[in-house]
Amino acid sequence: METGEIIQIFAQSGFQIDPQALDAMRMSSPEQVQHVVRTIDSSVLVVGIEHVRPKISINNIPLQASCPEIPLRQVIRQVEVPKMKNPVESNVTILKDITNQSTCIGEYTEFVQYFRDRYSSLGDILRKRLGARPIESLKKRNLDTREELSVIGMVLDIRTSSNGHKIIDIEDPTGNIRVLIHKERDKELFGSGCRLLLDEVIGITGTLSSDGNMIFANRISWPDIPNSRNGTLIGKRGGGKAVFISDIHVGSKTFLESSWLKFINWLDEDINYLVIAGDLVDGIGIFPGQDKELAISDIYEQYEKAAQYLNAVPKHIKIIISPGNHDAVRQAEPQPRFPERITKMFRKDIIFVGNPAMVDIGVKVLIYHGRSMDDIIASIPGLSYNEPAKPMHEMLKLRHLSPIYGGRVSIAPEKKDHFVIDEIPDILHCGHVHTVGVSRYRDVLTINSGTWQSQTEFQKRMNLQPMPARATVVDLSGMEYKILDFN
Ligand code: ZN
Ligand code: FE
Repeated sequence: METGEIIQIFAQSGFQIDPQALDAMRMSSPEQVQHVVRTIDSSVLVVGIEHVRPKISINNIPLQASCPEIPLRQVIRQVEVPKMKNPVESNVTILKDITNQSTCIGEYTEFVQYFRDRYSSLGDILRKRLGARPIESLKKRNLDTREELSVIGMVLDIRTSSNGHKIIDIEDPTGNIRVLIHKERDKELFGSGCRLLLDEVIGITGTLSSDGNMIFANRISWPDIPNSRNGTLIGKRGGGKAVFISDIHVGSKTFLESSWLKFINWLDEDINYLVIAGDLVDGIGIFPGQDKELAISDIYEQYEKAAQYLNAVPKHIKIIISPGNHDAVRQAEPQPRFPERITKMFRKDIIFVGNPAMVDIGVKVLIYHGRSMDDIIASIPGLSYNEPAKPMHEMLKLRHLSPIYGGRVSIAPEKKDHFVIDEIPDILHCGHVHTVGVSRYRDVLTINSGTWQSQTEFQKRMNLQPMPARATVVDLSGMEYKILDFN
């Protein structure tokens, strides 16, 4: 069988395959490959020779001893470490990270618990601002239909009535109720109603219909972040400079090596932190036909190469790396940090965290690769990949990094909803969409850091224009930023 076909069969079942295993499977029939796929435990991420060998030998297929070592190109010149002129100590504290805390096994009851946690965390934020009553209580007594009341619920369904009004079904642990947002009465409110997302938690204030089965909305409240937190921030700012990048995609033919080396060589004593929000490598089997776009087709060699690049960064710079959907960790989010087989290729002082993760580098940085932006952009009218700041602002307003269940993001039902933004960060750092957008939402600096990969075949077909080879530098003492271009 063609290796591409084998990779595809594995990819369809959510597995990446290591080259030794791939090599061993080359002589197999499609049925034999399918058989192997079916017998691999779903917890396996990268299928290795150990997963393939016994099954193949059962079918009496000769194994090749091992695949030849492909030498990595030695292209990096070791960057000289400059003398430290920068007096700021680069300390990193991990505040939040799923790594080693995953509890889920994917059962239905876990989803119930997961959504309960989401509701209670976000509901608690809203309850501080809204005197809300349980939904069930609206149906029990004959309530005054002229008086305003509030409820807090998770959005179950959004549709448009035959008259063009928005009908929203919301649910709390006691029951659910229909909400009507009139298309004429309040244009701004109606506009907000059109931007609601499934599974987000909102507050609704309005009046009850006479049968008690529907609320006529006057106002929608979001968990949101306070307008200004000046009081808490003054004097708490960090020092030094941090550089934010993501989506390096080492191993892809479209990886921009010369721009990347320019960037590595530019990093100097002035910089204290380098934060990378996922997609360190291009991965394998991420999308059909990806093998044709790879310069390095072995997932571990991709990481070897990435390690060479990052190990060449001046030693005083603290590097923080979190994974993305192209990386070799579980695809369901939240994702844990890279496994040891990968991290051991890198310098010991590099800090690996999960996705999402919150770290303190003098200021609080919430790192999330940003796959949910695919779902948010597809759901809210007017949002586009060219302006990645806007979906990031939505996340802050919803206080949730990945609200929509059942879209592109596969959400693992952890006991706790790790996507809830309970603690407000100073910086929200995402990637994934390969465009650059830095802006502020209230007191939070939102950074989408682009990519180091030129336009891929897939992006050409989708008419997506990436903004490669940019890095955002933030002065942590004043939170001023600059976007540098390494093209
Ligand atoms: Zn990417
Ligand atoms: Fe990505």
